[in-house]
Amino acid sequence: MTAVVIDGKKVAADVRDRLARDVATFTQRTGKAPGLATILVGEDPASEVYVANKRRSAIAAGIADFHRHLPANSTADDIAAVIDELADNDDVSGILLQLPLPAGIESAKLIDHIPAAKDVDGLTTMSAGLLARGEAGLRPCTPSGIITLLDSANITIEGALAVVVGRSQLVGAPLAQLLLHRNATVVIAHSRTADLASITKQADILVAAAGIPALVTAEHVKPGAAVIDVGIHRTEAGLVGDVLYDEVSAVAGWITPVPGGVGPMTIATLLHNTLRAAEASSVAA
Ligand code: NAP
Repeated sequence: MTAVVIDGKKVAADVRDRLARDVATFTQRTGKAPGLATILVGEDPASEVYVANKRRSAIAAGIADFHRHLPANSTADDIAAVIDELADNDDVSGILLQLPLPAGIESAKLIDHIPAAKDVDGLTTMSAGLLARGEAGLRPCTPSGIITLLDSANITIEGALAVVVGRSQLVGAPLAQLLLHRNATVVIAHSRTADLASITKQADILVAAAGIPALVTAEHVKPGAAVIDVGIHRTEAGLVGDVLYDEVSAVAGWITPVPGGVGPMTIATLLHNTLRAAEASSVAA
């Protein structure tokens, strides 16, 4: 068997095109574009690239850009003050605090400074609670993007056995909740899981989000399964994921490539969340 490749670039481009149309309609109706505020602290080169990509995609979709770049020696109070200012600004629909923050600054408290209504990264305690309870709220971008990818390939989630390898607050834990809300039977594996392959081999949907290159090999995969690779690792041979692509694609039914799979969906979902936040605040106004 050769797996069907799920083209994240194409799906993300479709989402962004649709979104640009919806943003235009929203802006015409309300007289004001949705606004995305990105906060970058310090000079981390990877973070600078990520933030630049998010801003470029947002502007291309017709979303107003509110960017704040703070020096690396900013204190937690300095950052909180900027979040407060953006939270009070009616033109800002969503606030994104780019992680990681410079060493010594605790991110969890600052993330929780973002009001849930503007939490377009879906990472505040309030957003996590709403997700856990299955109540309406903004969902974390990478896990939401994975659900969109599965749907784009018409993969049946309801009733499927989904194994999520990884339990981070950024990816694994919220993804498990989203799959559960879609009526999958969900198993979460992690670094203490005994005999990982015996568990992953049962999965109809296998998501690798452990951050370990080539952790998932053909022996971890049930023939015909949908394999979603979240991992991103820079190697001399280029970007690779958590899945050993060549051998797994010979066993799986569907597979996401790295690059060009999950990655592009994360920004598309951020833009989607920004429009949703703007819509919710225009209804509340
Ligand atoms: P993380 O916070 O380091 O979490 C990794 C998780 O994997 C932890 O829950 C850990 O278990 C588990 N794990 C570690 N070793 C394992 C093993 N041998 N077997 C099974 N589970 C194991 O990482 P993350 O932020 O979730 O990110 C995971 C990967 O996705 C990284 O490569 C990251 O770069 C990538 N990523 C990609 C995107 C994207 O847009 N494509 C977005 C976010 C992240 P414990 O909890 O027991 O430690």
